[in-house]
Amino acid sequence: MSRPADRTAVTVRLARRAWRALPGDILGRAMVRLAGVDVTRRVDVEGIGRVDLVEDPRLARWLDSVPRRPTAMTFGGVVVARQPLSDALIRHEAEHVRQWAALGPLFLPAYLAASVVARSQGGDRYRGNPLEVAAFAAEDGPRAIRAAGGYDTGRSSGSPRA
Ligand SMILES: [Zn+2]
Repeated sequence: MSRPADRTAVTVRLARRAWRALPGDILGRAMVRLAGVDVTRRVDVEGIGRVDLVEDPRLARWLDSVPRRPTAMTFGGVVVARQPLSDALIRHEAEHVRQWAALGPLFLPAYLAASVVARSQGGDRYRGNPLEVAAFAAEDGPRAIRAAGGYDTGRSSGSPRA
């Protein structure tokens, strides 16, 4: 039988998970499923936690349809990428994972609003977006990245095939 304090802790944990999952993780997982690809690596990023990397050239077609044709995009705890990511890019995307965890369903509207504000102030809507400024700053930061169990396919990280 669980004590009320235990139940409260579990409720808080579930609420936090749902906050990030709706809609970040759900969007990311749906995209992965629709593209017919799977998680290729799972890493633990210091101070942030588990990040699922989906590094697959088949995602290029989808990423090419996004403005600026990004190398990678993050949805909740899922990073979709057209190619294997460097540690610097993993730290960049992990910062977005942290932002998704904090903002939950507000992440996408906050991201778009921050781009509009950056643009209206004469800045670049991408590089001037504070969420991107933080992510670029994280690239050369100290966060350690460790392989997490289960998903290292041992696949060659050569050039994309598509
Ligand atoms: Zn970014």
